[in-house]
Amino acid sequence: MSKALIAKAEAQGNHLELGELISLLNLTDQEALDELWQAADRVRAKEVGEDVWLRGLLEFSNFCHCQCEYCGIRADNRSITRYRMTEDEILAAAREISAAGIGTIVLQSGEDAWWTGDRVARLISRLKIEHDLAITLSLGDRTKDELLLWRSAGADRYLLRFETSNSALYAKFHPDSTLATRLNTLAELKSLGYDVGSGCLVGLPGQTTRDLALDLLLGRDLELDMFGVGPFIPHPDTPLGGCPQGSTEMTYKMVALARLVMRNVHIPVTTALATLDADGREKGWQRGANVVMPNATPPPYRQQYELYKNKRCIDDTLKHCRGCLGGRIARIGRQVGQGQGGSLRKAGRTNE
Ligand code: SAM
Repeated sequence: MSKALIAKAEAQGNHLELGELISLLNLTDQEALDELWQAADRVRAKEVGEDVWLRGLLEFSNFCHCQCEYCGIRADNRSITRYRMTEDEILAAAREISAAGIGTIVLQSGEDAWWTGDRVARLISRLKIEHDLAITLSLGDRTKDELLLWRSAGADRYLLRFETSNSALYAKFHPDSTLATRLNTLAELKSLGYDVGSGCLVGLPGQTTRDLALDLLLGRDLELDMFGVGPFIPHPDTPLGGCPQGSTEMTYKMVALARLVMRNVHIPVTTALATLDADGREKGWQRGANVVMPNATPPPYRQQYELYKNKRCIDDTLKHCRGCLGGRIARIGRQVGQGQGGSLRKAGRTNE
């Protein structure tokens, strides 16, 4: 039974139905899981090739006016030190990303009103003048005018997870917004021509396997360029601090199924997964993923961008990470992607 379902997922995973996805997410038999990983790896090789793309992640502000119940930088958490990098600090970090041979900078922050539309636009323009970097923004829900301004200034991509496709669960954990708002922002990003990344958390309290299967179907229907899945990791100074963490095995199943369902999408191994599993990067790349986001945030800020505790590689320099990741990628027989590694969906890339 599971053999036939995995074969269908490999041949035409974009046609899997809800019940079939739930059955696949419920697999526990080791032999069947190995088959699932191998199917995802074959589809990864066929659809996106052997490159593993590096994206330099710069967490440039941890100010946030939101109260997401799982997030360590939520407004109410007084136990962290708040910071906001200056434009010059950001440009210096971008130079390090370029010097490391990485083709993309990911500018991520909390929802920080100090970074107005104009300030972000000016930063994007300066980055574009000084560097040949693709610019990915991850600044949360912003207005259509701001998204347009930043696109015109040169921003290429935007990451905005929908977190969960269950609107009741979304409302429970995000007092400041609704799932409909997130989905509307995602639609606006697409209409403005951004490459769009989204994704979900695994293991939110109350989340069911059915919810996760629906997350995969939503990801498919949104026709995304990137899809990220990370386990929820409780932060002690948040309302969900006492809840159990998300399962790494379920996260791997979501990565593998995201590959089988969404085919030529970019899929990162998330820092949260690597934090819970020391071999998480290699396993993720061999179970469907093709991206990793080394941390380019300089100390002491990177320690202060505390979404959860004990983040993997928190004290390593970008130069060290670049070398370490290159070695890990080579050891599994893959290669570091050269250039910016844009949307494969838009390029219609296939190795067939
Ligand atoms: N403010 C932007 C936004 O909302 O998209 C970007 C910053 S937000 C901190 C980036 C991501 O961190 C979220 O999409 C969420 O999935 C993840 N995150 C936050 N807290 C987490 C936790 N405790 N465990 C795992 N992931 C977490």
